[in-house]
Amino acid sequence: MTLQHCTAAPEVPALRLSLSDDILREAARRFGTPCWVYDAADIRRRVASLAGFDVIRYAQKANSNIHLLRMLRAMGVAVDAVSLGEIERALAAGYSGAPGAHDIVFASDILDRGSLARVVELGLPVNVGSPQMLSQLGEASPGHPVWLRINPGFGSGFSRKTNTGGEWSKHGLWHETLHECYDLVRLHRLKLVGLHMHIGSGADFDQLRRVCDAMAAEVRRCPFDIQAISAGGGLPIPYRDTDVEIDLSAYRTHWAATRASAEEHLGHAVSLEIEPGRYLVGNSGYLVSEVRARKSVGENWFILADAGFNDLMRPAMYGSYHRIGILQAEPSSACIERRPTVVAGPLCEAGDVFTVDKGGVVVPQDLAVPEIGDLAVFHDCGAYCASMSSNYNSRGLAPEVLHEDGALRMIRRRQSVADLLALELSCG
Ligand SMILES: *Cc1c(COP(=O)(O)O)cnc(C)c1O
Repeated sequence: MTLQHCTAAPEVPALRLSLSDDILREAARRFGTPCWVYDAADIRRRVASLAGFDVIRYAQKANSNIHLLRMLRAMGVAVDAVSLGEIERALAAGYSGAPGAHDIVFASDILDRGSLARVVELGLPVNVGSPQMLSQLGEASPGHPVWLRINPGFGSGFSRKTNTGGEWSKHGLWHETLHECYDLVRLHRLKLVGLHMHIGSGADFDQLRRVCDAMAAEVRRCPFDIQAISAGGGLPIPYRDTDVEIDLSAYRTHWAATRASAEEHLGHAVSLEIEPGRYLVGNSGYLVSEVRARKSVGENWFILADAGFNDLMRPAMYGSYHRIGILQAEPSSACIERRPTVVAGPLCEAGDVFTVDKGGVVVPQDLAVPEIGDLAVFHDCGAYCASMSSNYNSRGLAPEVLHEDGALRMIRRRQSVADLLALELSCG
């Protein structure tokens, strides 16, 4: 295969590049690779863009680092927890969980025993995703505050694994069974706070209209007075250079009209919540890795980095696209060749490839040819990246670093091999 002929200076993709190359190089030097780097300014800008919603409730599963939660809390953002671990994270970040505060809502499709006990102890409102949650909670804690997460019979989601509604989704209460749920609310004298739909309709305005209409209809059908409605999350972010930012003003207008309809029906003010995960943190994050090998394989050109799908799982799991940039270890103005490049990781697993499509087919990205020791930087890694990492191949979790007020600060240390082994060695 021939190298692409190099005539101009290397092209630097400018899109959304809020952290400079120098900062990313400094992160690699100080904290080692692979490491996650987040830009606080980007997250702040995202929070500010959601003014107009009464409550912004961050779905922390996107990225549950306690230091990010603290930052969001300081900006007045409430939080969702979907497990006992996420409840404890929210508390560690300073959320009160106090009865009546509603700053933490437990949102899940089941109540495992540990979560149930903690939810009851703290009095945390529960966003209910299956009928049994109502009876289990009602028996343990009569009068407990609840939301109902409704599956309105349709959904969206970018793959079979991300369907948030419709007949094939595991999430929420099927709309035709709501009367049984209302009976359970009544039986256990649960306090119904609000109705919730998380369909992920952010970018599709026909779908958004359907969701808003369904919400307005459910509010009218609901036999209880309620205080709030939630639009759920699902606001998309740009990943590809050709992706555009969501039209937030249209989104806001649709939901404001839905709130107005609910207020008219109920005769009092109704709080409008939004529950974004990806939107708040997705574009803020980078995964910085070091290129350790490069090779021709038949017609293909591979580079192998020291990050694997144990770190960044989205490409292997969903065929998600992450823009990749090559950063020279030492900046130079020399002309750099570009080649269609397959980017892979170190795991003993054929699927440890980052440049794949939704069907798992390898799709090379056009990248600068790196020297060994150069950095491969994965962009838009703030959401569902570090929080989905695993210890596969006995690799420790990578450190997380926050860029804030012009400085880099470690917000999670690297997990050592000793940390990993301790779980087993402590068993004698
Ligand atoms: C995951 C989740 C969200 C956030 O989804 P994003 O697509 O990241 O915005 C919001 N609400 C609920 C109930 C969720 O499960």
